[in-house]
Amino acid sequence: MYLDYNATYPLRPSCKNLIEELMREDFKNASAVYAGGRYTKKKMDNARRYLAEVLSVPSQDVIWTSGATEANNILLKGYNGPVIVSAIEHESVFAARKNCIVCPVNPNGLLDVESLEHLLFEFPYALVSCAPAHHETGIIQENDIYSIVKKYKGYLHADCTQIVGKIPLPKADAYSFSGHKMGGLMGCGALVSSIPFNALMHGGGQERSLRPGTENIFGILTFEQAFKDDLSEDWSKIQRPESYLDNPLVVGKNMKRLPNVSLLLMPGVVSATQVMTFDLAGIEVSSGSACSSGRFRESRCLSAMNVKHRECALRVSVGPDPIDMTPFVQVWNKIYKTTLEKIA
Ligand code: PMP
Repeated sequence: MYLDYNATYPLRPSCKNLIEELMREDFKNASAVYAGGRYTKKKMDNARRYLAEVLSVPSQDVIWTSGATEANNILLKGYNGPVIVSAIEHESVFAARKNCIVCPVNPNGLLDVESLEHLLFEFPYALVSCAPAHHETGIIQENDIYSIVKKYKGYLHADCTQIVGKIPLPKADAYSFSGHKMGGLMGCGALVSSIPFNALMHGGGQERSLRPGTENIFGILTFEQAFKDDLSEDWSKIQRPESYLDNPLVVGKNMKRLPNVSLLLMPGVVSATQVMTFDLAGIEVSSGSACSSGRFRESRCLSAMNVKHRECALRVSVGPDPIDMTPFVQVWNKIYKTTLEKIA
């Protein structure tokens, strides 16, 4: 049983079929001027045009990258000015620059707009990075951050890695996406930016010299396919995992949240124990993105929100198709029962 779609969305059947089709072709280098190169470039640029049309931006704003980590990094590192990030941004945003200015969030996980205004007043023309919804809790930013940023002549970057198809894409000056979070191949993403920035890497003219290196055509074409599929998915039919459980603690329970993710808390049982017990029962679920590289660390984002029992978090994230949650509920109840017995 797989309950970790926010870590990766398993390759969609449509993308597997597409890969099979593409394997029968011989793609040449998109930078080559001869017919084979032009063919690859045409396919790649069609995908670029598709993404640009979805966002109503010029095609040239779309830059193919190796994923959202790279998209976030090249923009934030390359921006020639102050960068403000929310305290709960993904690590690839939060750690992209040593001199980021951190804007706090309130205990509900919403950006503190008063602090943001103060920071923007102090640092005009800043680049603000704030994801429209959170990758661990699913909490959606309800405030119109774009208008606030514009009031101070700043730029807004939205890391949209986790939201495609689930909520409308927000208004922003730059967006990051990742193919494998939508059911495409790992190792391909996009930065869509109207914000000027300096290239991090040098040596080739690809992607308007902003991200040089031969483009990943299989990644790009499956990215396009997965993006289309994600947009046409009906995410509203999902039942939240907490609805199967007996009144569990849920982070942001009364907040607007992404339909497919819930961060549950099981006081008394640390995340590592929960994750390992579920794994032994054949259930793949995560403690949240803090469990990077297989290590368990307390979540910086939950600390920033001052969440009680944050060391006992379990992130359950599902795909769009309904699944039988019985095995999950059984193991959850077993872990809880054992804990209560221990305490008693
Ligand atoms: N941003 C967010 C919000 C994410 O959830 C992730 C993946 N955990 C990333 C960026 C990084 O994406 P990628 O794996 O494509 O580098």
